[in-house]
Amino acid sequence: MHYMKNVLSGNLDKFVEKDKVLRVPGIPKRILVTGGAGFLGSHLCELLLEAGHEVICADNFSTGLRRNIEPLKRFDRFSLVAHDIVQPIDLEVDEIYNLACPASPPHYQADPIHTTKTCVLGSLNMLELAARYGARILQASTSEVYGDPQVHPQVESYWGNVNPFGPRSCYDEGKRCAETLFFDFHKAHQVAIKVVRIFNTYGPRMRPDDGRVVSNFIVQALKGEDITIYGDGSQTRSFCFVDDLIDGFIRVMASPASLTGPINLGNPGEFTIGELAEQVIELTGSRSKIAYRPLPVDDPRQRRPDISLAERELGWRPEVELAAGLVRTIDHFEVLLTQSDEFMEVA
Ligand code: NAD
Ligand code: UDP
Repeated sequence: MHYMKNVLSGNLDKFVEKDKVLRVPGIPKRILVTGGAGFLGSHLCELLLEAGHEVICADNFSTGLRRNIEPLKRFDRFSLVAHDIVQPIDLEVDEIYNLACPASPPHYQADPIHTTKTCVLGSLNMLELAARYGARILQASTSEVYGDPQVHPQVESYWGNVNPFGPRSCYDEGKRCAETLFFDFHKAHQVAIKVVRIFNTYGPRMRPDDGRVVSNFIVQALKGEDITIYGDGSQTRSFCFVDDLIDGFIRVMASPASLTGPINLGNPGEFTIGELAEQVIELTGSRSKIAYRPLPVDDPRQRRPDISLAERELGWRPEVELAAGLVRTIDHFEVLLTQSDEFMEVA
């Protein structure tokens, strides 16, 4: 974090040799973060504010939480716009991080048409805004663009294996179409784009009812409930701690204009879901038992990012090991649990 704060504040003197691709960003910038009340968005807003920028968070609070942005209100450079990006908005900004979109399968499948609209119309609206004001824009794309991958680990040049009309398609195809729009705006209107493909990221501020595997397992373990493994638990994922990912976002945004992406950001450590369950049980000291549940339709068998592009171009590599990141995430949920009555109260 110390390093990131120097990067963000432009105090790069002692870091320039370490990482030649970083440029000194102008301070302060006016930055729009869509989805800023969500898990990743709130961490990003906080880091940008700490670095001295003016941050506007636009969020429709479909999965985001007001308590995530509560700590940000101490900055008078922070403002909140309750807005659904499916509708256009006019804000003069220097940079846009387009994070608005539900990310957990139960959440993005709850209203699949709105998920597709958010990915496609939302991206279109943000790109038009970027084109109008000459803003640089980063798209939070996803490893889901690779679908159930037949190339392993996943490299950016792999086109993926995606079902166009399954339960995950609103998200997977929506994000793929968003990438198409980003690259077409870049070609047609010279918009400065950055497309990052995020692999499973976890950490404090995930919702207890988020439905993704890390939060589910930790909440179940802390409450002494069964740990629900979908399928036989042999499917794999690679888990990136939130601080590492946000560091990657900032580096990508600050990179030379020629680096448009797509660029993978994720932790290359690969674990089976069964191994994750064991680690969570061990780290929480829980007496929870494993309970096997049906595997969801189109659940990808394996996931691991090839991050050689990010390593080469950004000098970026995740630093937080899974066990260390889990401990910090468990701490977060333990605090929520001690606020007992409010544990499952999420709004
Ligand atoms: P999240 O659900 O915590 O945050 C999403 C935020 O977007 C929420 O605050 C939500 O209220 C807001 N939102 C959703 N639809 C909106 C709309 N139409 N208009 C305005 N706001 C809207 O999820 P997250 O994990 O923080 O993910 C953030 C972004 O990163 C998403 O775009 C997601 O697809 C992407 N991503 C995340 C992961 C991950 O592992 N966390 C992996 C791949 C991609
Ligand atoms: N999963 C699981 N139990 C849960 C939640 C998820 O076994 O309670 C599995 C899920 O089937 C998938 C993996 O964990 O194989 C990761 O799921 P998640 O929803 O976190 O992310 P995604 O599937 O989008 O990578």
